[in-house]
Amino acid sequence: MDFTIARRRMVETQIVARGVDDQRVIDAMLKVPRHLFVDEALWGHAYADGSLPIGEKQTISQPFMVAAMTSALHLKGDERVLEIGAGSGYQTAVLAQLARRIYSIERISSLASRARRILDKCRATNVNLKIGDGTIGWKEQAPFDAILVAAGAPEVPRDYLEQLEIGGTLVMPVGGRDSQELIRVVRTAEDDFDEQRLMSCRFVPLIGEQGWNSDCEEG
Ligand code: SAH
Repeated sequence: MDFTIARRRMVETQIVARGVDDQRVIDAMLKVPRHLFVDEALWGHAYADGSLPIGEKQTISQPFMVAAMTSALHLKGDERVLEIGAGSGYQTAVLAQLARRIYSIERISSLASRARRILDKCRATNVNLKIGDGTIGWKEQAPFDAILVAAGAPEVPRDYLEQLEIGGTLVMPVGGRDSQELIRVVRTAEDDFDEQRLMSCRFVPLIGEQGWNSDCEEG
């Protein structure tokens, strides 16, 4: 399998054809080797139109969802970005191409260490990755120009709003455990937030102090 060709086809048919037109996002997704972020047994499916299992009952997000969320942040290159739910590290690698520094949190240590290893292999040197409960954000590094959350919560954790720079943008799935709406929130002033619904989506649950409790992982 020629991964460069598969990747080009993925970008043309799943991303550009569905309306993503941010050239920087398109270029990043043409570049990042998505197959390296899944088990070798799944390499043949790495550029298919869907999410894939990455172990620990978690998934690597669908390529289109990565493109849609990333382009909703309108990154120019100089931003400090908070990412919650590194998972495989694929979305992290895409963000690393598009912003100055990425602060990423993953609660499952085995996923975090695998993500770190592959990010190092891809020379993503502008990523700080830590293990912990990302529902409370990363206070020591706040404020952030952009926040991207790759797991669904019942509502936007208040710490995210507090840790967002004025003028900054947050993208995350909000709603029930099984289906959510992808929302985009822009902090327009100290106490003013502009919220917009982008599309329906299905993400794994955001688990922690300001998300779902861990019982939700079962079943
Ligand atoms: N963007 C990732 C998505 C992984 S799925 C990818 O494409 O690979 C979402 C991830 O969020 C899972 O790995 C899950 O363990 C993680 N997660 C859930 N709740 C979390 C929390 N409170 N803090 C940090 N990570 C969390």
